[in-house]
Amino acid sequence: MPELPEVETTVAGLRPVLEGQRLTMVEPRRADLRWPIPVDLRQRMTGAVVTSLGRRAKYGLIETDRGDVMIFHLGMSGRWRIDPEEIEKHDHLLVETQSGRRLTLNDPRRFGALDIVRRENLGHYRPFVAMGPEPLGDDFTGGYLKAATKDRKAPIKQILLDQRTVAGLGNIYVCEALHMAGISPGRKGAAISKPRYERLVAAIKQVLIAAIAAGGSSLRDFVQPDGELGYFSKDWRVYGREGEACECGGPVLRRVDSGRSTFYCSHCQK
Ligand SMILES: [Zn+2]
Repeated sequence: MPELPEVETTVAGLRPVLEGQRLTMVEPRRADLRWPIPVDLRQRMTGAVVTSLGRRAKYGLIETDRGDVMIFHLGMSGRWRIDPEEIEKHDHLLVETQSGRRLTLNDPRRFGALDIVRRENLGHYRPFVAMGPEPLGDDFTGGYLKAATKDRKAPIKQILLDQRTVAGLGNIYVCEALHMAGISPGRKGAAISKPRYERLVAAIKQVLIAAIAAGGSSLRDFVQPDGELGYFSKDWRVYGREGEACECGGPVLRRVDSGRSTFYCSHCQK
């Protein structure tokens, strides 16, 4: 499943193809993905010039000179294809630019989303309203996390996955960051000291930045004809490594809560 670094890399890959370009065709090929696609998306995007691309949490933002922002979410299996040789069954949105580039949004499982909002209403866009700070932003600090969790009895892992605490963190990077910071995923939020939260915030930023950098090196493939943005594999510290040796020599353990796996080391993480 694409997480924040994959979305950041996707946006970086789309930018040179779309920025400054007039869109000569924007055509949804079905009425919905996870939710209905706005019926006026085609009309509002066709003929518009893309002025900038950005990201909020795991949402990609494509802004136009008409004051609209097209929002995409990759869901479980979404990816953009650039200059595909053929249109596939699961290409649910077709885009063409003035310079003749062709893009498709491909999403076999259709858990992704496409939406369009006015730029001035972006702050009121429903998924963004209660969303916490960006994990790579300057206002996401140890002090912020300490204050945000002061009365929280929930396990820290659950708190970090709550988008109201911090936006866009998913299971993989939370497991990795907790291991890097030496914090047990089950530790209650309120029971973690401020210095440990500072280490945790530094770890979160570090794992995300490393993943974005790894993704950047895959961008070359992304823009090849029929190129696809792969979900770059990483050498995880604990994620997906149950039974293998942690860097301390002990075994990586796995626990499942509400269908979601937690990978951790009981020796390194307290
Ligand atoms: Zn260990």
